[in-house]
Order: sequence, then structure tokens, then C-alpha cells
Amino acid sequence: MTDEIQATEMTDGFHLVIDALKHNDIDTIFGLVGIPITDLARLAQAEGMRFIGFRHEQHAGNAAAIAGYMTQKPGICLTVSAPGFLNGLTALANATTNCFPMILISGSSEREIVDLQQGDYEEMDQLNAAKPYAKASYRINKAEDIGIGIARAIRAAVSGRPGGVYLDLPAQLLGQSLDAERGRKSLVKVVDPVPRQLPAPDSVQRALDLLKIAKRPLILLGKGAAYAQADADIRAFVEQSGIPYLPMSMAKGLLPDTHAQSASAARSFVLAEADVVVLIGARLNWLLSHGKGKTWGKPKQFIQIDISPTEIDSNVAIAAPLIGDIGSCVSALLAGIQSGFTKPSDEWTGAIAERKDKNLTKMAATLAHDPSPMNFHSALRAIRDVLKTRPDINVVNEGANTLDYARSIIDMYEPRKRFDSGTWGIMGIGMGYAIGAAVTSGLPVVAIEGDSAFGFSGMELETICRYELPVCTIVFNNNGVYRGTDVNPTGGKDVAPTVFVKNARYDKMIEAFGGIGYHVTTPQEMTKALQEAIASGKPTLINAVIDETAGTESGRLTNLNPQSKAAKK
Ligand code: ADP
Repeated sequence: MTDEIQATEMTDGFHLVIDALKHNDIDTIFGLVGIPITDLARLAQAEGMRFIGFRHEQHAGNAAAIAGYMTQKPGICLTVSAPGFLNGLTALANATTNCFPMILISGSSEREIVDLQQGDYEEMDQLNAAKPYAKASYRINKAEDIGIGIARAIRAAVSGRPGGVYLDLPAQLLGQSLDAERGRKSLVKVVDPVPRQLPAPDSVQRALDLLKIAKRPLILLGKGAAYAQADADIRAFVEQSGIPYLPMSMAKGLLPDTHAQSASAARSFVLAEADVVVLIGARLNWLLSHGKGKTWGKPKQFIQIDISPTEIDSNVAIAAPLIGDIGSCVSALLAGIQSGFTKPSDEWTGAIAERKDKNLTKMAATLAHDPSPMNFHSALRAIRDVLKTRPDINVVNEGANTLDYARSIIDMYEPRKRFDSGTWGIMGIGMGYAIGAAVTSGLPVVAIEGDSAFGFSGMELETICRYELPVCTIVFNNNGVYRGTDVNPTGGKDVAPTVFVKNARYDKMIEAFGGIGYHVTTPQEMTKALQEAIASGKPTLINAVIDETAGTESGRLTNLNPQSKAAKK
């Protein structure tokens, strides 16, 4: 009897979780260990997966989310219970908001104690806490359900509109044992997780009919278009239709920013003047002034391509909705224009070209200045010129002014290479996205960071050094949030709320972990440092000293600050 029991091969919850992920070709976990998931991370590594350990769960979550955006496979973030879970939840909510597929897997404490609120170690009802911020939330209670639970989480993350999924794994589950053969049979390989969703033929016809009568058409590419990986068809649609296009910030590079049809340098003009706008994977949210008001000027009609039917008419009436996956929708439109389409008039494209030339000349003059101390423009000119020689490099970008200026000055040449503050317009994604992008692509990353934005994730420099990632972080150091010159109106001991330690040496931070630090004060020094940093392939940080008076409050979002009567006095 004893012999028989010993002869039965057993497995357990820990092994089944790893087996189920591997069975679905997931090879990397981003996370932070602790009770009860440390052994899960160890086992993942022992079983040939990569485990990238962070210093704070939010950044592990952001890394997982950006990996999901880059690959169309859910990025995995693993955390401990309660506070670790809550730290990861910020990233999960951000992923859901941005339509990035990720799965946050958190260990949790004993259900019986949590449900009766009897006070367990890191007690928390995590499943219910996650629900409002996730596309879907599940808990697995039995080891034999791990296979189906993980399959369900993967499909929920990537199908339809992608988003963040929460998966709750109670400590008890991980320790549960199961007959190994039964365990193997319980694994589920997700079949066709992102099925094509073809648009209805009459929707395609409606869109084409509208496009054909447009006098001043415009294509607007959002990050959904970049995510969809339909690069060739999108480019063919733009080029064969001859319609000018505008990329949203993370869609930059889908076509090179230097493309003749890019209307980026005439953005305000085309948004105001266009009569028919084709939205491809872009929502009419605050980033697009909700599709109305002064920005949008003349009356216009929209064609909107989106996988999510409820996105349509969310802000303004959509004349021609096209529901389906972007690849299928764009290829249907492409086929439609190939059988007869008149390119936009010279009057329209000529007017855009004229604005573009004027604005580009103005920008070139601004960029040509060499003020001392260096300002945002002169520093970014140097960075732009180096990055031009390496179109394969990933660019992470956050900050207020640093984001605004870099977005318009740094050209992108390839798709899915620019990762930024996104739909929420948030700070704190920097090092998480940089690590996720470096691990996922195996290519260098340049993270262009405001000093304030960098602070949220700065400790992850240790992670970058530990995994020897080719990440160059550039900190635009102007001694404060927005700028470093505000003063405490009372003249008291505390500095103003927006001010940091003066002349901080962020380059010394990376040196503490064995990375290479640079301290630059001129564009020439910036060029040299960035070239060296990229060539080294090592973790580097450039502390870029910027004029502390440069920068406006909240960058281009000044209008979102409510006016304080007290402050105005
Ligand atoms: P941006 O911020 O660049 O304007 P958004 O995140 O607002 O972009 O919009 C992305 C849109 O793309 C979302 O509405 C999402 O539903 C949609 N989307 C994402 N992936 C696909 C896809 N494969 N096919 C169709 N629509 C998609």
C-alpha cells in the first residue's frame, strides 16, 4: 500500500501555475517576491522561465503591461498579498485604461479568515478590490482548475479590447497536491486567443461612401493601430489613399515621422479644417478634446475603426462605425479604395504642406538656439540627432514639459518603439516601461524623463543594473516639478511644494549600483554622453542640467488646474 502511494507521481499548485503559463508560451514573469509566492518565482526560474524581480510592484506591473502592448501576449506580474497587490493594482488599472493586455497574479491569504474578517497576515479581499480596475477578475480555489483559470485569464486579457486581468491565487491553492497525470490533463492551451473580427460589409461600404465624398479627409492613428500589428496595410492605406495623417503619441513611427503625408507639424490646422476624419484605434477622449469644441473647428464626420462597439458615439456622433479588428477593417478599406478612389485635392494637401513648412521652419529656428544654461529644446535637439541614427531604439518618455517637448521634437521611425504617459497622462511609468521594453525586445532603451517623473520609479535603477539592461535614462534636471524656481510665499523654512534639492546628482544614483553616470550641461556633452551610453550597451544615466526657470506649470495642461483664489491673492 505504502509503495503504491509513493509510486504515484504528484504535482502541486505551484508547478501547475508554471506549467499552465508555459503551456501557453508565456516565458517571462515580472514581479516581487514574498509570502506566499517566493517559491513560485523560484520554480518559474527553475523551469526555464525568466523572472525579473523589481523593487516595487507598480513598476513590475508597468513592465508587464508594456510587454503585453509590444507582443499582443499578456504580460505577467506576480505580487504578494494586500499591499503588494495594491501596488500592482495601480499598474493593472493603468493597463486596462490604455487597453494593454496584462495579468496581475497575486497570492492571497486564507479565504475563511478573510471572509470572516478574522485578521490574517496581509488580510484583504483582493478579488473584490480588483474588480473595478480590471477587465476581468478571477480566483482559482482548486488545483485542478489552474489550467482552465489561467486559460480564462489569458483570453480575457487579449481578446476584444485588451486589458488588465486580475488572478487571485490563495496560498492554500499553491500548496495543494494533485496526481501529476491529472494535473497534466487539466492544462488548457488557448486556441486562437485573438480571433480576427471582420467588419460587416455594409459598414465597410458606408465608410467608403463617406470617404469618397470627403473634401478634406484626415486619418488619425492611435496606439490601438500600433498595437494591432497591421503595419503594412495601414501604411498602404495611408499611401494609396493619399490622405494626410496624424499619429497620436504612441502611434508615432507606425509610419516614419518624416513621412510626406504626416500632418503632425500642422496638427491644429488639420483638426480644425478636416471634414471627414478616419479614427483608427484612437478614442475621442481628453487627448483629442472629446471630438468637439474649438480644437475641432469646422463641422466634421467621423469614421471610427474600433474593436469595442461601445466606444462608438462615446463623445460625439459617429457617422460610419467600423467594428472589428484593425487589421481586417483597414484591409477592407484598402481593398475598397483600390477599386477606385480620388486622392485628396491639391488645395487640401497644399494648404497642409504650407502650414507644415512654416511651423517646421519656426521649430528649426527654436532648436538652433544654444542658450546657457541648456533648455529643453537644445537638449532634445542633441538627443534627436543621436536617436535618428538608431531607429531601432525604444524610447520611453514622461514628465510634464519633458513629455510635451520630446513628443514633438523626437522623431520615431518604427512602430511600437515609443512608450509614454498614455491615456491617463500619468507619471511613474518610466523605469517599469524601460525594463519591460528592454527585456521584451532585447534592444536598447532611452528613457527621457523629467526629474519629477523619474522620482516615482528611480529605485528601479538597481533592477536595471542587476539585470544589466541596456537602458540609458536621461533625467531633465531643472530642480523641481515643472521648474525649480518657486518660492515659499511665507519665507518659511520649507521650500515651495514644487521644488527639489538643488543641483541633485542623479548620475551618482546609478553609480551606486555599478552603472555608468554622466553629468552634462551642454548639448555637445549630451551628444557625446548619449552616443557613449548607447554604444556601451550598459545601464547608464545622464543627469542633464536644464535651466531651472525653463518649464511651465503642468506643461501643456495648465488649463486643467482649477484656479485657486487664495493662490492668486
Ligand atoms: P490613443 O491614446 O493613441 O488615441 P487609445 O488608447 O485612446 O489610443 O485608443 C485605442 C483604441 O484601439 C481603443 O478604443 C481600443 O478598443 C482599440 N483597439 C485596440 N486594439 C485593437 C484591435 N486589435 N483592433 C481594433 N481596435 C483595437
